[in-house]
Amino acid sequence: MAKIQAIRGMNDILPTESPTWQYVEHCFQRVAHRYGYREIRFPVVEQTQLFKRSIGEVTDIVEKEMYSFDDRNGDNLSLRPEGTAGCVRAAEQHGLLYNQQQRLWYHGPMFRHERPQKGRYRQFHQFGIEAFGMPGPDIDAEVILLSANFWQELGIADSVTLELNNIGSAADRRAFGVTLAEFLRAHSDRLDEDSRRRLDSNPLRILDSKVPATRELLADAPVLADFINAESVEHYTALKQLLQGCDIGFVENPRLVRGLDYYNNAVFEWTTSALGAQGTVCAGGRYDTLVEQLGGRSTPGVGFAMGEERLVLLLEELALLPDEARGGVDIYLAAVGDELTGQALAVAETLRQELPGLKLLVNCGGGKYNSQMKKAFNSGARAAIVLELEHGESAPVTAVRLRTLDDAGDSENIALEDLPGRLREKFEFLT
Ligand code: ATP
Ligand code: MG
Repeated sequence: MAKIQAIRGMNDILPTESPTWQYVEHCFQRVAHRYGYREIRFPVVEQTQLFKRSIGEVTDIVEKEMYSFDDRNGDNLSLRPEGTAGCVRAAEQHGLLYNQQQRLWYHGPMFRHERPQKGRYRQFHQFGIEAFGMPGPDIDAEVILLSANFWQELGIADSVTLELNNIGSAADRRAFGVTLAEFLRAHSDRLDEDSRRRLDSNPLRILDSKVPATRELLADAPVLADFINAESVEHYTALKQLLQGCDIGFVENPRLVRGLDYYNNAVFEWTTSALGAQGTVCAGGRYDTLVEQLGGRSTPGVGFAMGEERLVLLLEELALLPDEARGGVDIYLAAVGDELTGQALAVAETLRQELPGLKLLVNCGGGKYNSQMKKAFNSGARAAIVLELEHGESAPVTAVRLRTLDDAGDSENIALEDLPGRLREKFEFLT
């Protein structure tokens, strides 16, 4: 029978790879907690309407990329393509937003039906930050500082660049859209088909186009900056000052618009040149009208989402994975002879209790000394503990052999009661 394969663009993360992912996830969690953000978890499936109303009907995500289906009740549901909409829905539903300040983070799989390629998948993972109830530029600066702190933690701060733009209010963008559409209509022969279709429905989205001919034409188009309201300009100027005051470098990119409709005022992206076309590792901004758009009371918000796959690729590309992302075990415990199986399990349990940081693999299935040592080497452990009866001795043993699994292969005999202490002495990672 033919074997069933995974769905294209949906990746398995194998045991050899998962330590890298856990490392990145631990780092993010540590950084988020360092800034007082708390985790929120919400479902992978929501009403399709939630995403249409938040992300916007005329966006790549809603038009082309969502996994939507009717469930058995006839409700139209979608796999979440991003986290902000579900986060707002959950926070609003449980009364976390009105008249309150919230600092939240989330992590999990997102789903978009895109053309799979390096750094772009159909199931991918995002870390996200959302801060509610704070209208000023200080919180914008904080979420950007948090992301910068995360780059420091991962060691990639020198490989990413912060891009900033002010996209003003919805009214500013409408006024700009009219002027932009006029300009583009006059050159519609140079526009790609998608962009031509968007001339009437959502001309700003054209700024986000990745088609080279369209990008060329856009270089001469009117700019959004000339249409932004005074209050928004003031907010944006203050944000830039706060970032400068904290030594966060940035470049302003007037063409940065974001592919989701709910953003306003300050928006940003962190990009890298080390990943080819999929160079954006983090994207976010303010979304002061989103809560209201989803039926709640007006609540300011700001946040970002970052793609975990692209971060893992970047760490591999830059060879920045530390030892802790190596995974594997510390010590392999072998027992030669069936009569020692029970004692081996008991010794292992004692060690796990005495040395909670120890990663200990116990040989199962018996085998000769040589075959157990081969398994010990393959496990990646640094040392093996061997239980073996001396000639004429009977079970249980009172001492074991500790053998390092490097080229030296040093070996010593240790009385059972001294074993935890000796391991602690010998391997500094256990203390
Ligand atoms: P892009 O322009 O690359 O399509 P986007 O604007 O659609 O990105 P967002 O919706 O802002 O992306 O998502 C935030 C981050 O999530 C991106 O910067 C990227 O790191 C990651 N991301 C988005 N889509 C994918 C995907 N299909 N596969 C892997 N990572 C993704
Ligand atoms: Mg996209």
